[in-house]
Amino acid sequence: MAKIVFFCIPAHGHTNPTLGVVRELTARGHQVWYYSYAPFREKIEAAGATFVSCDEATPEQDLSPRQAARMGKDLALSTRVLVDVTLTLDHRVCAEMEQLKPDCIVADSMAMWGKAVARKLGIPFVSSTTTFAFNRFSAKIMKQSVGSLAAMLLSMPKVGRQIKRLQARGYPVKNVLDILQNDDNTHTVVYTSPQFQPCAETFSDKYAFVGPSVRPAAGEIEKTRDKLIYVSMGTVNNDMLPFYRRCIAALGGLDCQVILSVGTAVPLEAFGALPEQVSVFPQVDQIAVLEKADVFLSHGGMNSVSESLYYGVPLVLLPQTSEQGGVAARVVQLGAGILLEKQSQQAIRQEVRQVLEDPAYRENAAAISAGFRRCSGAKGAADKILQVCGG
Ligand code: UDP
Repeated sequence: MAKIVFFCIPAHGHTNPTLGVVRELTARGHQVWYYSYAPFREKIEAAGATFVSCDEATPEQDLSPRQAARMGKDLALSTRVLVDVTLTLDHRVCAEMEQLKPDCIVADSMAMWGKAVARKLGIPFVSSTTTFAFNRFSAKIMKQSVGSLAAMLLSMPKVGRQIKRLQARGYPVKNVLDILQNDDNTHTVVYTSPQFQPCAETFSDKYAFVGPSVRPAAGEIEKTRDKLIYVSMGTVNNDMLPFYRRCIAALGGLDCQVILSVGTAVPLEAFGALPEQVSVFPQVDQIAVLEKADVFLSHGGMNSVSESLYYGVPLVLLPQTSEQGGVAARVVQLGAGILLEKQSQQAIRQEVRQVLEDPAYRENAAAISAGFRRCSGAKGAADKILQVCGG
């Protein structure tokens, strides 16, 4: 029986794909401890792991809202925050790991503290990647803008200072890439298929592309028209009332059912009277909607895109971050969707109609779906982790 410790950042998109793996490991009789944060406790315990709180060190706890919005974009700030969490947890987690003697640590690619502790104590390590795996080939699809490249170079001295803080506490880290990027020798579980991952063939056999983990639908929705258009900008940056209004104006005139999931920041009263076939909700059972949808107008979040393609639903994409831009670019490259270049009423209607009317988008989405369904899933991820436990 193996002892396995998971570390994750406080984000549903990063936690959810690992829960099936935890379920698989505990069902096979292995013991799992999961270091995470209070809002995730219930679902982690439901998956069979022992929850261990990291609440004394939340990545965004000391940040102003403006700084929080820069996380993930500003390398110096992101490194400082990740180093802060690592050093706050350092004593306690190292002591606990020395007592527990886990056979393996599995850490989300952004939960740098998990990887750092594994290195410091020489514990076998598996990285868990909920977005695309990253190397110099796949990076090309994430197209660094000249501005962000310059900002990155300027931030290097500050990043260097953060690395020195880690070194001073005994962490064998040479540079920021040591921590943030996985090399060919790091065992890595990637929650997508080798077909959807850009340049999958350039990654070593230490990488396991196990496919997305898509939860089952909680119920079923009623389809009231021949075609169903679904609109959602995800759960984070979804305060986009003017855009939703334009979607309703653009799509309400088509003879299609339209469902918008707009989040909780936008009051439903703001929409006034809606056309009969249009409904707006703060949140929906997205899987149930995708089971019936014909096109998804999405922000390009990795989970939303994976879920959509799993059900063979082509996309119109309006990415908000560079990561979403990378995911959207891959969808476009594989012919399963198009970018919404302009946000005008006319453009929304035109792009949605194009995806609805040209069957090629649906066929290409179906091909990606077939690739997802061929993947080894949670079982394959568990096999990989146990292989690393076995040395
Ligand atoms: N989601 C949902 N109902 C909604 C909107 C979103 O269940 O009304 C789920 C969706 O199925 C997905 C997640 O929230 O699993 C959104 O994750 P994604 O990575 O797409 O975007 P984020 O919210 O992190 O920007």
